[in-house]
Amino acid sequence: MAENSTITICLMAILFITRLASTLGKSRPWTGFLSPRLQTLHFSRNLHLEPDAIKSVSSDYGNLVHENPAAVLYPSSIEDITSLIKFSYNNYTPFTVAARGHGHSVGGQAMASNGVVVDMMSLRHHKNGTGITVSKSPSLGFYADVGGEQLWIDVLRSTIEHGFAPVSWTDYLYLTVGGTLSNAGISGTTFRYGPQISNVYEMDVVTGKGEVVTCSSRSNSELFYAVLGGLGQFGIITRARIALEPAPKRVKWVRMLYSDFSAFTKDQELLISINGRKQKNALDYLEGSLLMVQGPPNNWRSSFFPSSDIPKIMSLVTQHAIIYCLEAAKYYDDETRHTVDKDLQQLFKGLSFVDGFMFEKDVSYVDFLNRVRSGEEKLHSQGLWDVPHPWLNLFLPKSRISDFNKGVFHDIVLKRNITTGVVLFYPMNRQKWDDKMSAVIPDEDVFYTVGFLHSSGFDDWQAYDQQNKDILKFCHQAGIEIKQYLPLHNSYKEWINHFGSKWRRFRERKAQFDPKMMLSPGQRIFNDI
Ligand code: FAD
Repeated sequence: MAENSTITICLMAILFITRLASTLGKSRPWTGFLSPRLQTLHFSRNLHLEPDAIKSVSSDYGNLVHENPAAVLYPSSIEDITSLIKFSYNNYTPFTVAARGHGHSVGGQAMASNGVVVDMMSLRHHKNGTGITVSKSPSLGFYADVGGEQLWIDVLRSTIEHGFAPVSWTDYLYLTVGGTLSNAGISGTTFRYGPQISNVYEMDVVTGKGEVVTCSSRSNSELFYAVLGGLGQFGIITRARIALEPAPKRVKWVRMLYSDFSAFTKDQELLISINGRKQKNALDYLEGSLLMVQGPPNNWRSSFFPSSDIPKIMSLVTQHAIIYCLEAAKYYDDETRHTVDKDLQQLFKGLSFVDGFMFEKDVSYVDFLNRVRSGEEKLHSQGLWDVPHPWLNLFLPKSRISDFNKGVFHDIVLKRNITTGVVLFYPMNRQKWDDKMSAVIPDEDVFYTVGFLHSSGFDDWQAYDQQNKDILKFCHQAGIEIKQYLPLHNSYKEWINHFGSKWRRFRERKAQFDPKMMLSPGQRIFNDI
């Protein structure tokens, strides 16, 4: 009996020692880049150094840049983020910190080489984040308070339950609120409702000193304007208060094809000239894209044309080499159900698209906003989503679009024998943007966005990259004053040029809100140059 209990005690002791050893074994080998004192802080259990954690944040949608951080923070509360930044700020040698939303950048913008990446999306699993709540106030009407880590698709789903929705969208909704507000957030809704950054009332931001600041156009306004379009340089957005309007039910969605570039852009500009928020006869959405011999009419960005129309469209494309596709949408609900067709007819009267090449769809509001998702799922299933994406996004002054059409679409893109992916081309109104914000746009009342949204193989992305460089070179040589959207620049000089007259303020704001230059180093503005 005594022998048995001695054996039991021995076994228990061995078990205890084994458990202890394995727990200690898991105590991670501390990285040389970060202070070991970090391990002793209250949030250290959320700080991960394992290869899987590092790998999960060391690439992005672009699949072209790979940078390993020293650690990844999976915050369970905003306080975790504040403590991390404060710790770095007060450290003898501060380390860099990058918020990562959904990692849908294409040039490493959410990476932090040897620093700490804060995986914002992990806040979605904790009650200590902001979540999504819909409220009403006498001065603002309905609005949503939304965590910076939330995906726009979830903002749509939550707000629509209350019969409301934001008015300004991106084409693709699986992006975080913090990620798009750090750029601008644009789509066919921008000409009328402004970019997403123009639809924010207030934000909570953790600055580069680790302070949580609530800011708006009235209070702490310098931080508010700095952060909107600020490329993550001034703070981490943990909450944004977003404007809401009653959600429409359905959408008339139209595409028209043009063989003539100036007729196409003239019609686009005519349609965006009706842009008052309360103007009932205005479109709700206007975009444009190119159909070229090197690519199919339907693509992942949205499958629109019925297969029965594809031969007719392809024959038009073959005849002209480039066809310009104007895409428009008008929302409606029970009240406007009987008038929407008439309103559209009125709007489209006199437009110069090729006779017989207007196509129409009638879809639910949510299906329209989430139109890119099915293309994404299809590419995922074919293993074609996680491939390199050598993208180039530009804003062009309206006065130079003809030069761009000839010099880029005809003389560069058409002449290369590489498959074109999606090429977007549509105008916006400058008056819908606020110049106090950090986002940079051309200095003309109307400007265009052009997006070369290429997907490539792992062994041929250089051809696309070269094409992008040639496009930039052409613009430079032709004196076309483009601004990059989702900018990628290679030198400090290029950044100064990018921000132009806003550079001084941008730099001063950096010195004020992130004086130790810790935040979003992957943008390569103040770091790694
Ligand atoms: P991430 O790539 O994770 O981060 C982007 C930058 O923002 C990084 O510098 C990061 O440090 C910073 N950041 C992230 N979260 C925060 C935060 N909470 N606070 C402060 N800084 C933060 N853009 C459009 O405007 N319109 C479109 O229609 C559109 N469509 C797209 C479709 C696809 C398929 C893809 C891949 C991208 C698209 N984009 C579009 C671009 C997209 O808006 C940007 O790349 C955006 O930054 C991605 O959001 P994210 O959450 O993945 O951000």
